[in-house]
Amino acid sequence: MSIVEVGECSAASSSQPQSWAKLVSVDPRYPDIDISSDEMVVCSNTLPSSTDKHEWCKITKGSNQSSAMLQNKSSNAILVDGEVVQGEETVIVNFGSEIISGPAREGYLIYKFEIIPIREASQNRLQNYLQVSIDLEHVKCSICLNVWYDAVTVAPCLHNFCNGCFSEWLRRSQERGVSVVCPQCRGVVHFVGRNHFLRNIVENVLQADSSLKRGNDEIAQLDSYTSIRTNLIIRYGKKRRRPNLTFAGEESGNTGHPCPQCRTDYGGFLCSLNTVHLQCHTCRRLMPYRSGINVPQYCVGCEKAFCGPYWHSLGVTMIDNNPVCNSDSLKPVNERPISRIPHITHGMVHYEQEVTERCIRQMGRSLQDVISDWIGKFNRHEIDLTLLDLNHPETINATSNLCDICYDKLVSFLLYWFRITLPNRHLPRDAAKRADCWYGYACRTQHHNENHARKLNHVCRPTRGL
Ligand SMILES: [Zn+2]
Ligand SMILES: [Zn+2]
Ligand SMILES: [Zn+2]
Ligand SMILES: [Zn+2]
Ligand SMILES: [Zn+2]
Ligand SMILES: [Zn+2]
Repeated sequence: MSIVEVGECSAASSSQPQSWAKLVSVDPRYPDIDISSDEMVVCSNTLPSSTDKHEWCKITKGSNQSSAMLQNKSSNAILVDGEVVQGEETVIVNFGSEIISGPAREGYLIYKFEIIPIREASQNRLQNYLQVSIDLEHVKCSICLNVWYDAVTVAPCLHNFCNGCFSEWLRRSQERGVSVVCPQCRGVVHFVGRNHFLRNIVENVLQADSSLKRGNDEIAQLDSYTSIRTNLIIRYGKKRRRPNLTFAGEESGNTGHPCPQCRTDYGGFLCSLNTVHLQCHTCRRLMPYRSGINVPQYCVGCEKAFCGPYWHSLGVTMIDNNPVCNSDSLKPVNERPISRIPHITHGMVHYEQEVTERCIRQMGRSLQDVISDWIGKFNRHEIDLTLLDLNHPETINATSNLCDICYDKLVSFLLYWFRITLPNRHLPRDAAKRADCWYGYACRTQHHNENHARKLNHVCRPTRGL
């Protein structure tokens, strides 16, 4: 079985009329009114007590996407933003305008006017794509002379190379015990890191000219050289390291967070001049980047380094009288206990989190049990990864070392799948009877309008505004 995230945009929009605005009922017991034509006479009940529908206003689309004209079509006066609008009078309404379907606040239905930003959004999207021409020489690696593959950027000169090409260059420089210089400009390299931004550019270039694509053999070879998975500090001191140096002086170079192991032997290891370092994302302290040790040093989801597990594996719990970072911070996914739904779940909308919590309880299960189940499905590649917001999601599995933030992202992703595949009968009754919001999980209204968030289901795919 495989669960795939599909766009339902075209199918859904043919069955629902294209609305450009709506009247959102302030009282969730009454339905919203969709405004689908550029000029529409609204016909609905105006008194909560009656089901009699009659025409009471006409709404005409404005030219500027942010306002509209409202004309009173009722035999009564109506109230717009507190102003009395008599028969056939016209006023301008804006996003958020309050429209009361009769002459008084009490007893009549109250609506908020909302313009659906769909056309605007698709227009913006078009404007965001610029056609640019690129000199191919500017997207090529000066080592292999091909378009970058898994680009890395070195600093301070900011030249770019394939990860595999530069990894091999780095390895050879270290073998020879010489400082690492940029293969392009010969400047000393202090830092190298993956550049995900360039990946999109490369993708576009390869799409435009597929003859630039590399063969599978070449890619496999580059992958086998690749060693840069997190940001590496290649050189942080200016001069040769001397024994017993305190890093407070000249040698501290451009960082105030030197590596404790450059001056003190911990666990039988002392850094050499060529040792590459990582900087802990939490405490900013440096640690040597060690290969061949069985301890994670960085998170594969965000590619940031975390020092806790490393120092704890050496039995070091204090450095310079400061406690070291948490040893559990890179615990494998399947070894982590979970007792609460992460706050980022369901787009941070508390109500949907509560619904998920109640579902799980009602099914007689625990959160841990549900997550373990879904980690299994995830591990067997049964879930589409489109919505998983981690780097290289296809390389992540149940034994991956993730930081706390990336673990929360993974759990939220799994809980989305738990909910979206759950038969309606497992939902609590108040949640089960809700219709899906057209904007699904991407809906912005759910974040500022509690009524709306409760009234419609938002753990669903967007069918609009894509
Ligand atoms: Zn290259
Ligand atoms: Zn350079
Ligand atoms: Zn060191
Ligand atoms: Zn740390
Ligand atoms: Zn992470
Ligand atoms: Zn919504």
